[in-house]
Amino acid sequence: MTDQEKTGLGNYFVANYPPFSAWKESNLPDAHAALNAPPRPGTPLGLYLHIPFCRKRCKFCYFRVYTDKNARDVEVYMDALLKEVELYRQKPVVGDRTVQFVYFGGGTPSYLSAAQLRSLCERVQKHFPWNQAAEVTFECEPGTLQQHKLETLKQLGVTRLSLGIENFNDTILEANGRAHLSAEIFRAYQWARDLHFTQINIDLIAGMVGETWDNWRDCVRKTIELAPESVTIYQMELPYNTVFSRELNTISPLPTGGEGPGVRGDAAPRHVVDPAHVADWPTKRAWVDYAFAEMANAGYSVSSAYTMVREPAKTKFVYRDSLWHGADMFGTGVASFGHVNGVHVQNVDRWEHYVERLHRGELPLGRAMRVAPEQLLRREMMLQLKTGRLQADYFRTKFGTDIVGAFADGWSQLQEDGFLTVTPSAIELTRAGLLQVDRLLPTFFEPEHRSTRYT
Ligand code: SF4
Repeated sequence: MTDQEKTGLGNYFVANYPPFSAWKESNLPDAHAALNAPPRPGTPLGLYLHIPFCRKRCKFCYFRVYTDKNARDVEVYMDALLKEVELYRQKPVVGDRTVQFVYFGGGTPSYLSAAQLRSLCERVQKHFPWNQAAEVTFECEPGTLQQHKLETLKQLGVTRLSLGIENFNDTILEANGRAHLSAEIFRAYQWARDLHFTQINIDLIAGMVGETWDNWRDCVRKTIELAPESVTIYQMELPYNTVFSRELNTISPLPTGGEGPGVRGDAAPRHVVDPAHVADWPTKRAWVDYAFAEMANAGYSVSSAYTMVREPAKTKFVYRDSLWHGADMFGTGVASFGHVNGVHVQNVDRWEHYVERLHRGELPLGRAMRVAPEQLLRREMMLQLKTGRLQADYFRTKFGTDIVGAFADGWSQLQEDGFLTVTPSAIELTRAGLLQVDRLLPTFFEPEHRSTRYT
């Protein structure tokens, strides 16, 4: 086993480009200029609402979440969030657009009570009604759901329910600090099914601490038996600042700049945690591969590197596909990310600062980056590569660039390694390429972003 195959500390998942570490507070004037300009013609608009509360912190979690807030704090946060939505509504960049997608993410949006959710949604919709939206997604932790809360969500127009199941084994759920247990999964799933949400998604994580082949097979079997519209599987990573990354046994530093399983060329010092606790990358890929093969046998199709769908013609991913094709999105809530008129923005990441800025009637922007046209092209190319396929025509029409020729060196290196095939009209990932797509994407980073930390 090489160090490269062990699960080391650091980010693996590439969520955006340029990397977050390149976004700066000094660029905030660009964000304000973008918000005060009219929208680019034909650009869809979405709204992300971050609900940062969780019952318990999962040991692998690196998100900005709070487990110690009381009802009064929740109220203060909701008021701030509403103020932020209102401020965005007044910006010229909205134009005559209505929101095409809404995403309640977390944290745990389902941590809120049915009454809090009703109040929040009614107030948000005064500014951004979503009755015409193509998708309203709501992330849930199974143990926070009751039948009446799901009924409320259905009435409020939620179309896509994403259940953070992660694993079906109580010992593994507990070892990884999850708040829910398996009995709550089946109960919540049945309630949701009975209410006929348009799409129910199940999230799993391959490689939670304590995972075994036998247990993983059992998880895949139980998932298929539940027959959700889609299944999303992430590979466990060990970002910095998680309970695990602090707790786990640090045994040997890798040389600076070594190519680990995280972002290629990451120059941050990388430590290897005890492989007895966390599966190595080849094993996690084998688990995802197994799950995808079993789901394919059960009639599911590949929708992306992480997602299988039961009925591809009917099951859409409006939030995902809009972002991967350059939509605008207001990211509201503490530490949230957004993109407006060619500028990346992130909110301040401290509760006090977030609330205080909104109390003063200011958008709580913390850092930003204007994305150059060539970077927008790279960003879309990398994100869409996660679907396993790029169409050259799309990029020629939108950016006037032939991506096959412009990135020929990158493609040929990855083709030699067996990760993709290239034709003049399309790039197609092989199975091996799709299973480790996030590890391949830094091939297309500009040189100055290859040697920085990703977050
Ligand atoms: S439920 Fe999600 S957001 Fe909350 S602590 Fe766990 S991983 Fe983090």
